[in-house]
Amino acid sequence: MLKGKTALVTGSTSGIGLATARALAADGANLMLNGFGDKAEIEKIRAGIEKEFAVKARYSPADMSKPAEIAAMIHATEQEFGALDVLVNNAGIQHVANIEDFPVEKWDAVIAINLSSAFHTIHVAVAGMKARKWGRIINIASAHGLVASTQKVAYVSAKHGLVGMTKVVALETANSGITCNAICPGWVLTALVQKQIDDRAKASGKTVREEEIALLSEKQPMHQFTRPESVGALAVFLCGDAAASITGAAYSIDGGWVAQ
Ligand code: NAD
Repeated sequence: MLKGKTALVTGSTSGIGLATARALAADGANLMLNGFGDKAEIEKIRAGIEKEFAVKARYSPADMSKPAEIAAMIHATEQEFGALDVLVNNAGIQHVANIEDFPVEKWDAVIAINLSSAFHTIHVAVAGMKARKWGRIINIASAHGLVASTQKVAYVSAKHGLVGMTKVVALETANSGITCNAICPGWVLTALVQKQIDDRAKASGKTVREEEIALLSEKQPMHQFTRPESVGALAVFLCGDAAASITGAAYSIDGGWVAQ
């Protein structure tokens, strides 16, 4: 389905981003990978994807908190592949603290990486999509884009903002062959969540497994993690013909979290 198309997934060196990049490549898309990590490990991922899926994969180390680096990454993708057709805004970080204790620099970083980076990628990429009359923009938001939790003021603000941005872009591109949607996962067991579980276990003296179950049952009626691959499969669906009229939506994949 995506053969000959090019996808850029921000923050695709681990977790949901990597699973989504792999799902898009499995469907035939060439890839621009992005994110932080060990150089040799990233090269192994990149070369592995090329070999496994017979697509072209490149890597940009652009920092999603730096608008100039983001613009350069989009231009480099268009130059390398001739187009940027599928844009997945996925890079994200978390910081947990009550608002009065929330470090200002952590607020700035979470807003920059989880929210402003999506503005900057779309701002630059949408012109090419409009010119080619086809584009898919997928913003990885969160259940926290729809409901709140304590101690996550920056994350919840950023994700609610991202859901709002998704709607504006959907309206502005409605007759351009472009769709823009958000995916709102509940708990997915990745590095970002593992750190929260480990911190809880350290603070409570309970086991990691006990804290895993506690974390899930506080929020999700379904006591199991969503798999990163399932988020990737939903992204691929949103790129397909069957999803051509789905735009401005916020798709929950959250074990019932926001149904409550
Ligand atoms: P992760 O920590 O495994 O991956 C985050 C990715 O973002 C990594 O590739 C990392 O290198 C990259 N990244 C971080 N800062 C960056 C920067 N400044 N520039 C470029 N890349 C940067 O986390 P994950 O759980 O896979 O999260 C991916 C997205 O999914 C995030 O937006 C997160 O908010 C969202 N999400 C995660 C969950 C969950 O339960 N894990 C739930 C809902 C939403």
